Amino acid sequence: MCTAMRITLRVLTMLLIVAAVSTHAAEKKQGSTSKYKAVGIVRSKDVPAKVLARIVSHVKANAPLKARALSKPVSGGEVEGKTHVANARAAAKTPAPLLVLVGKVAKRPERVIISAKDNVALINVDAFQKYLNQPDKISDECLKRIDRAAMKAVGTLFGLPSCQNPFCALSDVESKPHIPVQGRNYCPACLPEFEEMLSLSPTSKGN
Ligand SMILES: [Zn+2]
Repeated sequence: MCTAMRITLRVLTMLLIVAAVSTHAAEKKQGSTSKYKAVGIVRSKDVPAKVLARIVSHVKANAPLKARALSKPVSGGEVEGKTHVANARAAAKTPAPLLVLVGKVAKRPERVIISAKDNVALINVDAFQKYLNQPDKISDECLKRIDRAAMKAVGTLFGLPSCQNPFCALSDVESKPHIPVQGRNYCPACLPEFEEMLSLSPTSKGN
């Protein structure tokens, strides 16, 4: 093989690598954008309005998106959360991600129940109270844990992965009692990732 051919081959190989890398980067950007810019938050009738107001203000202040409270509470009637999901979805009137604060979900001990196909996360207040051994009140610690769960649920609905930083709201540290109270915000790695996901949206509808 002559030198000219060898150089041509080397240049072609480099061009292929560059093309592959930029395609990958473009795919990554495309895949990590969201068409939604806001999350709706609604309560069921058995959750006090001030709890809804509290969680909405925490998400508004700390997540890089709009948080809108749906003023009318949804009813329950509850079989494993399905009624709550359906009622909340109907009340929201848009397919945007939705958090539903519910007083109690029958037969479900989980604190957060995600229904990915409906784009809905149920925050099961009763499960937080039971976890804290405070069945009759919504304490300050309970509210802080719900703040954190709401931030985690919002991130999850928008497709953010779990984080390794135990003090990040996106980490999975529910079993470590002292941590979730402190980790109510996104960490310095997750926050810009979420911001980028929201700002690069090519098909934003502003909802
Ligand atoms: Zn993080």
